[in-house]
Amino acid sequence: MSQFYMPTKVIIGKDCIVKNKNLFMLGKKALIVTGKNSAKMNGSLADVKHVLEMVNIDHEIFDQIEENPSLETVEKAKKFGLECGTDFIIGIGGGSPIDAAKAIAVMIKNPELTGETLINGKKMEAIPVIAVPTTAGTGTEVTQYSIVTDHKAKTKKNIGHPVFPILAFLDAKYMLDMSKDITIQTAVDAFTHLVESYLSKRSNIISELFVEKGLTHFGKVIGALLKGQLIYEDRENLMMASMFGGMAIAQTGTSLPHGMGYALTYYKNMPHGLANGVLYNEYFDIFKSQSKVQNIYKFLGLETHEELKNILKSLCSVDIDITDEEIEKYSKEFFNNKAKLQNHPEEITYDDIYKIYKDSFNKYL
Ligand code: NAP
Ligand code: FE
Repeated sequence: MSQFYMPTKVIIGKDCIVKNKNLFMLGKKALIVTGKNSAKMNGSLADVKHVLEMVNIDHEIFDQIEENPSLETVEKAKKFGLECGTDFIIGIGGGSPIDAAKAIAVMIKNPELTGETLINGKKMEAIPVIAVPTTAGTGTEVTQYSIVTDHKAKTKKNIGHPVFPILAFLDAKYMLDMSKDITIQTAVDAFTHLVESYLSKRSNIISELFVEKGLTHFGKVIGALLKGQLIYEDRENLMMASMFGGMAIAQTGTSLPHGMGYALTYYKNMPHGLANGVLYNEYFDIFKSQSKVQNIYKFLGLETHEELKNILKSLCSVDIDITDEEIEKYSKEFFNNKAKLQNHPEEITYDDIYKIYKDSFNKYL
């Protein structure tokens, strides 16, 4: 059985925000949620403020979202939003502010929820969210997921309340001045969504359509990523790869590397995309059946799987100290997280997980 559900209206193209001002008329008071700096610098915040003024909608700004947003910050933003009488939210930025915007939207709709009770297994509704992605990586503008950091549990978690943005505006112009490091880290995240979706047990004929298309877009940018020099067209290709990755994981979820990468982000402060990407060559090798794995380099337009492995080694080189005890701890924690194990299509053991971590840091760094 195959199914597809992705209810977000997506608008793509240069200046798409100012060309669609009437679509912002979703309520009386908008809460704009951003990270600390980038939205002010790349023009996205100015564009959103400009259209809200044009259509006469009041707004307040919460600009304190940190990377890998914590439940504490989300709760602070909820209080601010309630005090302001917010009835819709505009998340601008990378995955962190947009995911936070989704969590805040659930809490404003259900004010009894706190940081402690937000993740509670029940599916609750949210006030409307508009997403303006300024990284090409997470695809969160077209997913129902909101990943937050739970410091009590010492890990990152999906809040579990599905919040697809009502609208997403994708404009690559906001990404033109992004540093090489952030560009690569976020691009690798998009790549890993496409691949994990494709190799998931839940992959289906429709999600695979998005994966193939997304990997084709990603393949066109590999040379520019390796050089660290991207032109506007490369930015658009990455934005498409990211969006298609989001559409695919909205159907299938992610898989082993995403679940395993959370520990590397939490304990080692490794950026999200790298934390997944660094595990990738070992992840590929753990598959007993290589038939689907071997399609990936072809979708990217590469000649061999070896070529792909070398590209990943170049893009995901990291320099961290990690002990055997730490690897054991991460492996145990992850192996207890049955949800992420479930998407892997083959039987997987604790030793497999340990080996992926261990060899990723032994062989390639
Ligand atoms: P991010 O944490 O949102 O941002 C990373 C950095 O990039 C920040 O320093 C940010 O600055 C900066 N930045 C953002 N846009 C920029 C631009 N246009 N130019 C220059 N710098 C820019 O990074 P992300 O990788 O996009 O998001 C990662 C988060 O998303 C993680 O928490 C991850 O778990 C989650 N995620 C969610 C999904 C989903 O489906 N919901 C999927 C995958 C990952 P500021 O802080 O100043 O804005
Ligand atoms: Fe991701």
